[in-house]
Formats: sequence, structure tokens, C-alpha cells
Amino acid sequence: MRSDIRSFRGEVREFLTRSLSAELRIEGARQIGVFCEASVGRNWHRILYARGWITPTWPREFGGIGWTPLQKYIFDQESALAEAPTISAAGLQMCGPILIHFGTPEQRARFLPRLRSGDDYWCQGYSEPGAGSDLAALACRAVRHSDEYIVDGTKLWTTHAHHADWMFMLARSSTGERPQHGITFLLIDMRTPGIVIQPIVSMSGEHEVNQVFFDGVRVPVANRVGAEGDGWDIAKRLLEFERGGVYGPRVRRIIARAKRLAGASGDLWNQPDFRRRFAAVSIETDALEAGELRLLEGAVSASQATTSSLLKLAGTETMQRASELCVLASGTGAAYAYDSTDDEIEMREGAISMARYLNMRAATIYGGSSEVQRNILAKIALDL
Ligand SMILES: Cc1cc2nc3c(=O)[nH]c(=O)nc-3n(C[C@H](O)[C@H](O)[C@H](O)COP(=O)(O)OP(=O)(O)OC[C@H]3O[C@@H](n4cnc5c(N)ncnc54)[C@H](O)[C@@H]3O)c2cc1C
Repeated sequence: MRSDIRSFRGEVREFLTRSLSAELRIEGARQIGVFCEASVGRNWHRILYARGWITPTWPREFGGIGWTPLQKYIFDQESALAEAPTISAAGLQMCGPILIHFGTPEQRARFLPRLRSGDDYWCQGYSEPGAGSDLAALACRAVRHSDEYIVDGTKLWTTHAHHADWMFMLARSSTGERPQHGITFLLIDMRTPGIVIQPIVSMSGEHEVNQVFFDGVRVPVANRVGAEGDGWDIAKRLLEFERGGVYGPRVRRIIARAKRLAGASGDLWNQPDFRRRFAAVSIETDALEAGELRLLEGAVSASQATTSSLLKLAGTETMQRASELCVLASGTGAAYAYDSTDDEIEMREGAISMARYLNMRAATIYGGSSEVQRNILAKIALDL
């Protein structure tokens, strides 16, 4: 078994050495946000698709190749350490699995091949003003007229909406006894008339997120996933995909950068205070990886809300602490060297580390904030 894993890791390393061009590595090393630039992601996506490794854990009939979750984890570890660009999760990790579980045969045949090949780029339209943590409060309306829904309202914080061909979204089709009732899951072509995308520039200077407005947008009923009003159950399933078990490789990448920077910046690497902080984050990362691997080996269940909440909490908070190490390691002047308003900013290590640190503040907000995860743990695990 161990030798199988070693030989698989070797195969992945060999592929990355051969396939990651110098340009892609540089783009990966400069990536500020959680996902790389869409054009870079699309390039890397096509290379993985050509190799047959874009959806390795999907069922074989939909393009999977039978990798175990552990093999996928090893692939993610090696990709992170090789500074491969991080491809958006909206299509491959969220919408694809949803269509496999809940889509009709026609929807799967129509959407999955283009999602896998990278021809279609997806975004996630859940949050709205006043409906983030309390997602069931969403108010964007979908009113049925014959064989179409007419969608009116707005979505907020939509990552890469400005690059997307399609959005999977939740809309209110009726009001029921509880806010969770009457929510419908729709797939919307982003070129449909009536959609306006307004950029939001974050404090790190990146344009990743947007507000999207819908004014009389016509969506064929054929683009509804599941039955009308069943959107909440589908959405809950999707949040498990979004929260569960994918942080260890990302933290390792940040720690590796911190070590490299500290080694390059005079004697910082030998200073006890820095080394203590570095050791603390490394130990947290070991614990995080152990938790993720237990999940992958089936020792704990992904369907337990507590598991995904624990890993989301530990993963994002450890990533933030690791990003602080990079700022420290790239010099205390980094905070002052960063000016997000300067278009000509020279992306020195200090500036990149600072931009990443600022961007990373969002990790404990998106996908369910830390406070919300703690509430879930208090309720379910501690029975409070
Ligand atoms: C960078 C980024 C990218 C995102 N990308 C997407 C995307 O692609 N698609 C999408 O649909 N959404 C996206 N989001 C939205 C994200 O899911 C929401 O921001 C998140 O769910 C929090 O909702 P909110 O912003 O409305 O804050 P609120 O829910 O208003 O929360 C504000 C504060 O109150 C706290 N709080 C809220 N409720 C409770 C409670 N019950 N108990 C204790 N504290 C509480 C929160 O923890 C937070 O600190 C993104 C967000 C960010 C920052």
C-alpha cells in the first residue's frame, strides 16, 4: 500500500514537472485569491482534462477514473507545493456533483461534458444582501410563466461572475411556512438579457467578487434542478462539498512559502520567536491533515455537519495564521509597501504576502463564517 502511494506520488510529481509551464508556475506563485485568474485556470484546466485528471474521483460513467479520495488528496498536496494555479471550485466541485446527484439525464448530458472540458465556466449564486449566514432569508424571486421562470432580484459576493458562462443559483419561487420552503435551484446562462454584473474590489485590490442584478431574466423550466421548492435540500448538500476536507494542502503551500521567505530574509529563520510561531502553525497543520485523512479513509462521516464544520474552522483559521507568517517573513515593511490603489504595483514578495494576508481574511466568512460553524458545533456536538 505504502509503495503504491509512493509510486502514485511520483507519477503526479513527474506529470507536474512536465506539464506545469514556467508561466503557469509564475501565475500560481503570484495567485492572491482563493482561485487563480479565470484565463490561467482555464489553461491549467485544459491540460488536466487532456491528461484525464480533471474529475478523477467522479463516477466513471461521468468521466471519473477511479482515484481514491486519498489519491486526490496527494494530487492536491503535490499541486500546491508545485505552485500550480488553483482552479475555481464552482463547476468541478460544486455544480458537477450536484448535477450527478440531482440532475436529469438531459441536464447531465448537456452540462457535464462542457463543464469537464472547461468550455463552460461556472459561478455560485447563493448569497444576497441580508441573506448570507441566514441563507434561507433569500429574496431573489423566480416566478413561473408557462415553461419559463422570470427571475428578479440580486446576488451578492458572486465570485468570478464576470468570467462565468453559467450560474447555479437559489431563487424564491414561493413563500412557505418556513423560510427554507419555496426555494428553487436554477441554472442560468449568464448571457441572458436582463443580467447586470457590478464589480466589487476587495481590500487586497483584487476583483474577484461581484454583485449580480436580475431584471426579468427568463430561465427555461428545463434548467431547474430537482423539483420546484426543493432547492434548500440541494443547497445543503452542496455546502457539504464546499466545506469539507480540502484545506491541508493549501496550508502546506503557505507554510512552504513562509519558510522560503524567512530563509531568504537574513537571520529570521533562526529567531526563536519566529520559529515558535512557525512550529505552532506546522503542528496545527499536522492535526488538520490528520483530521482530513480520517475523513477520507471513512473513519468519520462527511455527512456529519460537525465534521465539515470542524474542518472548515480549523482549515481557514490555520490558513490565516500561516498567511501571517508570510507577512512577518517578508519583512515588517510589507504592510506599508502594499498600496492596493496603485495599478503599477510592483508585485514583490512583501506586497504579494500582504495582499494574500488581506485576501485571506475572507476565508473565515465565505462558505459559512467561523461564528456560524461554532454555533453548529455548540448545538450538535456539545448539545448546548
Ligand atoms: C471573498 C468572498 C467570496 C464569496 N463568494 C461567494 C460566491 O461565489 N457565491 C455566494 O453565493 N456567496 C459568496 N460569498 C458570500 C458568503 O457566503 C457570505 O459572505 C457569508 O455566508 C456571510 O454572509 P454575510 O456576508 O451576509 O454576513 P452576515 O451573515 O451578515 O454576517 C455578519 C457577521 O455576523 C456573524 N453572524 C451572522 N449570524 C450569526 C449568528 N447566528 N451567530 C453568531 N454570529 C453570526 C457572522 O459570523 C459575521 O461575522 C463570498 C463571500 C466572500 C467574502
